[in-house]
Amino acid sequence: MKKLLSICALSFSAILLTACTSNNESVNTQACNAGNVILTADFATGRMDECKLLGNNEYLITLIPENTPINSSPWYAFKIQAKQPTPIKVTMVVKGDKHRYLPKISKNGKDWQLQPYHIDGKRWTINIDASQDAVYISGQEIIDNQYYIDWAKSLQNKVKISHEILGKSTQGRPLYQIESNSHSNEWVVVLGRMHPPEVTGALALFPFVENLMSNKAFIQRFNVLVIPNLNPDGVAMGNWRHNANGVDLNRDWKTFKQVESRLVRDKLNAITAAGGNIVFALDFHSTRKDIFYTMPSSYGLNPPHLVENWLGALEKIVAPFVVRQQPGNNPDKGVFKQYIADTFNVHAITYEMGDNTDRAVIDDIAQQASNTLMKTLLNTSANEFTSMRKQ
Ligand SMILES: [Zn+2]
Repeated sequence: MKKLLSICALSFSAILLTACTSNNESVNTQACNAGNVILTADFATGRMDECKLLGNNEYLITLIPENTPINSSPWYAFKIQAKQPTPIKVTMVVKGDKHRYLPKISKNGKDWQLQPYHIDGKRWTINIDASQDAVYISGQEIIDNQYYIDWAKSLQNKVKISHEILGKSTQGRPLYQIESNSHSNEWVVVLGRMHPPEVTGALALFPFVENLMSNKAFIQRFNVLVIPNLNPDGVAMGNWRHNANGVDLNRDWKTFKQVESRLVRDKLNAITAAGGNIVFALDFHSTRKDIFYTMPSSYGLNPPHLVENWLGALEKIVAPFVVRQQPGNNPDKGVFKQYIADTFNVHAITYEMGDNTDRAVIDDIAQQASNTLMKTLLNTSANEFTSMRKQ
């Protein structure tokens, strides 16, 4: 893969250094390098737009969105290291906005825990004992582009799936697709990570897809197409929400100005041109609470009550977890679920997990939601997905 960032602007201030990096996946390169202590974001998903040493081992990080207007989702991920053990204080603010993600800490970039923090209005402060052993501080667990590749490969070791490149993103990164190889003409479509910081959506997608792909009866009848990471540029850059062109991909499903959404559209068109039927689609996201954005039962989709029945069945078995269904119809917004409904006359949902939902609960709900969805879809005849047409 060729280096994506060839120009490195250097500022030789003692307290603010924009560093170059040799890591191909690194695009955000702000760093605080005061000699002993180094704060850097020169890794995939890394982001801390401005870093200043205020003196006395106190640092101020300012987060700035990739462009505006933008939905509030201030992402950050950075690494702290020191040649000599040094207690430091890091304060973080968001330019023109407030924080959404609580700070988490990891020594290896894999295992995370909440970092104690002090919040004062719109700024939070953490105290870290910086040492030679680097620690990562991040808004959510770091799930970078490589993570998806590793996950797909490990899934491929367990079940019969293909893992191929669907096409290239705006900046030329591969967009991967995973397919079950059932040669069925009924297709279920799963998308993820249009919005880079929405990691809890990814944490739901992984077990959900594993469960679908592992169910013999299900994949015998349905072909499953998964594009788990639709915005690899935004993920690599640590973007708040947009792709490399500064566009919200989940507003592009009407005009298709972005290559990422066009690739999916063309794939689905190719499926239907070859005689396939898209019967259902899910798109995984995160927001402040757990919620399922659905299409209304009265919208004339095939079959009308499919999602109501599925989520109703889910609700019965996951109490006290609350299954919030929010039906909505907005033909002009360019949202994926609406595009599926309007194009293929079938249901689609936006599956949103809360930013702070317990990770074990996310996993459990994904298991139960995929089990109940499979049951619901298997109980629906092929005719029911195609018979009713909107007037
Ligand atoms: Zn989202």
